[in-house]
Amino acid sequence: MLGLMQDWPLLCHRIIEHAAKYHGTQEVVTRSVEGPIYRTNYAQIHARALKVSQSLQRDGIKFGDRVATIAWNTWRHLESWYGIMGIGAICHTVNPRLFPDQIAWIINHAEDRIVMVDTTFVPMVEKVADKMPSVERYVINTDRAHMPQTTLKNAISYEEWIAQSDGDFAWKDFDENTAAAMCYTSGTTGDPKGVLYSHRSNVLHALMANCRDALGTSAADTMLPVVPLFHANSWGIAFSAPSMGTKLVMPGPKLDGASVYELLDTEKVTYTAGVPTVWLMLLNHMAANNLKLPHLRMVVCGGSAMPRSMIKSFVDMGVEVRHAWGMTEMSPLGTLATLKPPFTELQGEQRLDILQTQGYPPYGVQMKITDDAGKELAWDGKTFGRLKVSGPAVSKAYFRLDTNILDEQGYFDTGDVATIDPHGYMRITDRSKDVIKSGGEWISSIDLENLAVGHPAVAEAAVIGVRHPKWDERPLLIVQLKQGQKASREDILEFMDGKIAKWWMPDDVAFVDGIPHTATGKILKTALRDQFKSYSFPNAAA
Ligand code: AMP
Repeated sequence: MLGLMQDWPLLCHRIIEHAAKYHGTQEVVTRSVEGPIYRTNYAQIHARALKVSQSLQRDGIKFGDRVATIAWNTWRHLESWYGIMGIGAICHTVNPRLFPDQIAWIINHAEDRIVMVDTTFVPMVEKVADKMPSVERYVINTDRAHMPQTTLKNAISYEEWIAQSDGDFAWKDFDENTAAAMCYTSGTTGDPKGVLYSHRSNVLHALMANCRDALGTSAADTMLPVVPLFHANSWGIAFSAPSMGTKLVMPGPKLDGASVYELLDTEKVTYTAGVPTVWLMLLNHMAANNLKLPHLRMVVCGGSAMPRSMIKSFVDMGVEVRHAWGMTEMSPLGTLATLKPPFTELQGEQRLDILQTQGYPPYGVQMKITDDAGKELAWDGKTFGRLKVSGPAVSKAYFRLDTNILDEQGYFDTGDVATIDPHGYMRITDRSKDVIKSGGEWISSIDLENLAVGHPAVAEAAVIGVRHPKWDERPLLIVQLKQGQKASREDILEFMDGKIAKWWMPDDVAFVDGIPHTATGKILKTALRDQFKSYSFPNAAA
């Protein structure tokens, strides 16, 4: 027997309709690419998103066609998202930090028909435009006054483009399983893989993100997503914030500590979300200028492990920290660390111990750890295993790739190695390809990195496994010092000594001027392994 409730498909565009209707005057504030702060609201965003839909249809975009965006977090980008998805086309967010040839590869693979691009990226796109034959038109996200000279095909400024539409348009209902958005994973090996979100998965993910123990913003909050719309679905914030009527502050192209601080301060931001490198820049700027953020209540941090020293800095400022783990294939939220019973009253170091884990999943994500043969491992907080996940907002396949990515129970292998404790708190110890195998045991490179960045002179640290004649692999700690600071190999090893098992201690420390990063801000270990490929440990003869 079927239930007798209404058949109401979960569609992304209904979110912005809701925001326009019930929170129409709620502000969306942007540091524009042109420079000035621009203020609009949900009613305006909705009205202009309808014009985007009309303009796309006028240009021949149909249900299922792909439209790319190469853009910063701005109000125009948000309008484009909803305008594209509202007509059943697919919003393909392209990460502009990738190499131009990778961008061309991705756009070809997706067969994008229109590319909506910020002025910042026009010169880069021009260089590879002749390699992207599927693209029929470029919409440049600016107005006529700021329109650059460009060789891009059929280029038109966004404002002129939508001005040709009157906005007298209505979005329709369609199957909630229709594809809404796509995002390619920036794999460090092999070709990028296209993750294809559906309307249903995005809406369910937004509801998950809205839980009190997840992002949990309300209509009285102000959220600043530093995490870009092109990085893993902007952690769902472009859906979750409007669905709650939360004020949005979009940082545009300026993500340095001073610019982010200025927006957090002047817009009285209560919630913000981004990767650890962003918070490092913010904290350095605040410390150097003796600044405070009295309105800030919550910092959500994910994408890479949040160092303990960083968690402590925010906690000491009276700001709640929410360490999150996830991935593009998961829409992306997987787990978040909050203090639940019996840990709610913990203080000091014990409190940090919990906040530093990657946390436990919201309803809608299931996880398990297994050995290489797929056998489930114990949740004892010690046993490392392959982390596998399932849920309605987790990928079951990649776009145009005919490989099975699920195990027999329908779980997706995240490529991460983790422990889970009896309370369900998960700790990432490594990417499976980064874990250091020493004498048959595993050493977590992430734990060592977290510890090393706690040294006051260390700006960033990376640990890689280097071949060792006796132990197979041993950890090499690679350190970038803070500007103007000094520390020797011995200083750093002494700082780490006693805080980890003896056999986990790095065998050597190498100092570098800069640590390479991927397009999503993660440490690029392949480049470091390459850089240190002829390195051998001083004790290697042992
Ligand atoms: P992406 O799809 O680019 O968001 O990358 C996902 C990967 O980032 C995950 O599989 C993890 O390896 C890593 N990651 C994300 N969040 C965290 C975190 N909080 N701690 C450690 N690694 C993380």
